[in-house]
Amino acid sequence: MRKTKFTLITQNVDGLHDLAGSKNILKLHGDIWQMRCTQCAKSWQDRGVPLAKMPPQCACGALARPDIVWFGEALPTGVWNRAWQAVQTAQLLLVIGTSGVVYPAADLVPLALGRGAKVVEVNPDTTPFSETVDCALRGAAGEILPQLLFR
Ligand SMILES: [Zn+2]
Repeated sequence: MRKTKFTLITQNVDGLHDLAGSKNILKLHGDIWQMRCTQCAKSWQDRGVPLAKMPPQCACGALARPDIVWFGEALPTGVWNRAWQAVQTAQLLLVIGTSGVVYPAADLVPLALGRGAKVVEVNPDTTPFSETVDCALRGAAGEILPQLLFR
């Protein structure tokens, strides 16, 4: 029997996939609960709300920032490469709740289609991929996904 591997690729930075217990998460846009130094390589988790000190600082004295991708910044190369690799070898890609207009993440759909994977879109609205995917299911993820899983 072939071993199935599940990879969750998300643009969300809120950490809710972690709290839900999901494994093998690739966070394309980072994690709002992680801080990183603007000078040294240190990064750490900080779930403090509000942050204890403003502006946040690293132990080295430099400013710290949320470890997320801000508008105009490139995606972290490592996580992007892992996402690309996962989609290249995927048999099924579920595209859930994304507008399909944020690049480079949106490049993953044509990659999967080009590699022969089945692609299923779940979205309340049509997207640029709706006509090209194998199946487009209209509705909110919270309504559609339970119907797929519990039948
Ligand atoms: Zn530092």
